[in-house]
Amino acid sequence: MTTVREVRLKRRPVGMPQLGDFDVAEAPLAAPGEGEVAVKNLFLSVDPYMRGRMYDRPSYVPPFELGKVMQGGAIGQVTASHDPKFSVGDIVSSMFGWRDAYVAKGEHIQKIETHGLPPQAFLGAAGMPGMTAYFGLLEVADGCKPGETVFVSAATGAVGQIVCQIAKLKGATVVGSAGGAEKVAYLKEIGCDEAIDYRAGDINSALAKAAPKGIDVYFDNVGGDHLAAAMNAARPFARFAECGMIAQYNNEEPAPGPANMALIVGKRLKIRGFIVSDFAARQSEFAKDMAAWISSGQIKTRDTVDEGVDAMPGAFLKLFTGGNFGKMLVKV
Ligand code: NDP
Repeated sequence: MTTVREVRLKRRPVGMPQLGDFDVAEAPLAAPGEGEVAVKNLFLSVDPYMRGRMYDRPSYVPPFELGKVMQGGAIGQVTASHDPKFSVGDIVSSMFGWRDAYVAKGEHIQKIETHGLPPQAFLGAAGMPGMTAYFGLLEVADGCKPGETVFVSAATGAVGQIVCQIAKLKGATVVGSAGGAEKVAYLKEIGCDEAIDYRAGDINSALAKAAPKGIDVYFDNVGGDHLAAAMNAARPFARFAECGMIAQYNNEEPAPGPANMALIVGKRLKIRGFIVSDFAARQSEFAKDMAAWISSGQIKTRDTVDEGVDAMPGAFLKLFTGGNFGKMLVKV
């Protein structure tokens, strides 16, 4: 019997999560039985949606259980296998994150052909966040054309940086917003035509200046003031892909809706929410295009990598303060 180091939810956070909401502990790990595989995790994914699972309320995924190890995306390597579909050394993807190793039935993990990409890419551009960007922009927002202007919030994040670059590949003018001068400089580096530091001033006037003719698409990762500004800047028939509203995830009271909702009618806005798993059946379309874009250098990525399972709670908190730059990962 070996042991596994894992992070458990100690108490449900109220408002901004605290390090004390989590416990890091050792637990016994049995050897794999028939049909099971032992995996050592290499990289753990840190994602904003995990905040939603810390509330005890109905949602599209069940809440995390108190005192139990949490779940999350992870990329690992098989160390022992009693399932003929897996061999020692295989790289696999799973939802057994927040721990350094695990034993699972083969049917609960997926083998990954990396095609020369680093394994952690499958938690970022080549994984869930990349797929969110791809279908969110190309399907939920009905794509974008040359001559159109696309506005992206949290634009240097795991999802946002990919949205900006796909929109550029499709010939659109792209305006990204992010917090701080370094992030704004990166947005220019990845091809954004205009980049807004939303912390430096009022987002409404900054967006009006960056997109004087208005916006045709808004890819929303933030909600709140960014959503209201996007509605003000929207051209008639603009399309909004509602991907996330991170500005509201830690609210202790429901936030009031934007005061300019009536613009939805007059401007005939199409505002549609989505969850990436809505497109699960079409994963191969994304995988093919994204692999080509990454290997040709048309899509570049940036990650923030912290080290060790014990770093997971701190890495998670960074998502809400902008402490991550690109995909937030923990290397085990
Ligand atoms: P990011 O890598 O973008 O990290 C979160 C970023 O959000 C931070 O770095 C910070 O960047 C920004 N942020 C945090 N708080 C605020 C705030 N109050 N106002 C403005 N910006 C803020 O995370 P992801 O790319 O993984 O996720 C981006 C969004 O997409 C989230 O809302 C997430 O929930 C959503 N999502 C939705 C999915 C779906 O299926 N619908 C799937 C995956 C993600 P900065 O320094 O610029 O402030």
